[in-house]
Amino acid sequence: MRILVLFRRDLRLLDHPALAEAARDGEIVCGYIKKESLTSAHDYWTMAHVADIKQALNREDVPFLLGEGSVVEQVNAWCDRYDIDAVYFNRSYLHDEIEREDDLIDSLENKGIKTKRFVGDVLAKPGSVLTGKGEYYKVFTPFYKALRQKPLIEPVKKPTTFSGLSIESDDIAFKEPAWFKKLLNHYTPGEHVAIEQLNTFLEQALSRYSEGRDRPARKDTSHLSVYLSVGAISPRVIYQAVMAYDEVGPRVDKEKEAFIRQLMWRDFSYQQLYQHKEAETKAMREEFDRFNWENNQAEIERWKKGQTGYPLVDAGMRELYETGYMHNRVRMVVASFLVKHLLVDWRVGLDYFEHTLLDHDRQNNALGWQWVMGSGFDASPYFRIFNPITQAEKFDPDGDYIKRFVPELRQLSGQALFRPFEADEAELKRFGVVLGEDYPHPIVDHKSARERALSRYQEIKEAS
Ligand code: FAD
Repeated sequence: MRILVLFRRDLRLLDHPALAEAARDGEIVCGYIKKESLTSAHDYWTMAHVADIKQALNREDVPFLLGEGSVVEQVNAWCDRYDIDAVYFNRSYLHDEIEREDDLIDSLENKGIKTKRFVGDVLAKPGSVLTGKGEYYKVFTPFYKALRQKPLIEPVKKPTTFSGLSIESDDIAFKEPAWFKKLLNHYTPGEHVAIEQLNTFLEQALSRYSEGRDRPARKDTSHLSVYLSVGAISPRVIYQAVMAYDEVGPRVDKEKEAFIRQLMWRDFSYQQLYQHKEAETKAMREEFDRFNWENNQAEIERWKKGQTGYPLVDAGMRELYETGYMHNRVRMVVASFLVKHLLVDWRVGLDYFEHTLLDHDRQNNALGWQWVMGSGFDASPYFRIFNPITQAEKFDPDGDYIKRFVPELRQLSGQALFRPFEADEAELKRFGVVLGEDYPHPIVDHKSARERALSRYQEIKEAS
């Protein structure tokens, strides 16, 4: 049988159920359909992984095709040209992708071409973790406890032998813009890099994860999101490696659990967007769609550029711009600052993250913003407004993270670093900082911004 394996957000050989089964069932060719225009950091990051997977498959004598545009048209064209008998792929849990899959299956089956879909990319299939009443969980902790009890899907092994069709591979030619190449100084694409990253994390950071994960200056989180986002590694491989990590003992067991809990947030997001397909564009609690936003363009630009005058917010936005990643604690702070201090519609932030994050993931991004906004079902309540100063004092107590990304404040320490706007002008000057020249005055006053946000929130509460 001649089988086409369609790759999507699963750019790996290990734990790729569609590839593993195809390698057993017949002769294979693999293919990927790229976006017509690449614009975001994640688009280029994806293509770098497409090039990586093509090389890996070619080493096994498996040809690789690159298409563009409509999935239905492209796959049908390949099937006609190469006399394909079956198409295998791992399923997506995004509704627009599911519709595309259904159209593809209809079009192929009409011609007598077999199709097979597999469960990829999740620990448990969305819709398979339900309450005793058969309903979806709305709140994370009971979802996590239920998922923890469930026998999880085992990762599948990388095929040991392949039989590739005798077809020429396509070239993977795409031009990486200079701004994207700079991000590659921080993250290197590739399935083998993802595995190395996992091992480094296990050996060097897992044992202090629960405390370290809130410290943006340290490299105590796994940074595996950048690889998960393109499927260079699967959550099941991560789960299995963490559970099997042989340094055990009560302390490490506790740390393992803390990490697995975070990993399971990803499955929770996948389940939530599967259930609420509009959660990328609409507030899950609908009263939030009546929120009276300011959406001041000049302020939005200052937020994007890391020029708000609040050092932790600016450090986070600059980390994002310079590296394509931002620490989770700081994501919460900058997102809260945008929607609550500046009263900017959460979808503006969601779009900006989509454009700039290497690890952009539609489910995690949508649920992350709804969590911060307070509009999700299991979300931080709206009135919990992160104080960007005390967050910095607590989670970046030595100011190392701020100093790394906001170099103009590098000479400052203590309170002057966390609240330069309250510091004595002469003291600041001694350390080379003149506010309004070297570093901005604060874009808003924290206390009054907080009161303004709470009163806007009161308006939607009263109206609902
Ligand atoms: P680790 O702490 O090492 O965690 C391991 C893995 O668990 C992560 O790679 C991720 O897959 C999962 N995970 C951890 N925390 C979360 C979480 N809060 N929600 C869902 N999954 C989690 N994550 C993305 O992958 N892509 C996004 O586009 C994205 N956008 C976000 C937007 C906002 C506003 C917020 C608040 C969070 C967002 N997150 C997103 C979630 C989280 O910030 C990242 O998953 C995490 O920072 C990735 O770093 P890590 O791999 O080192 O995490």
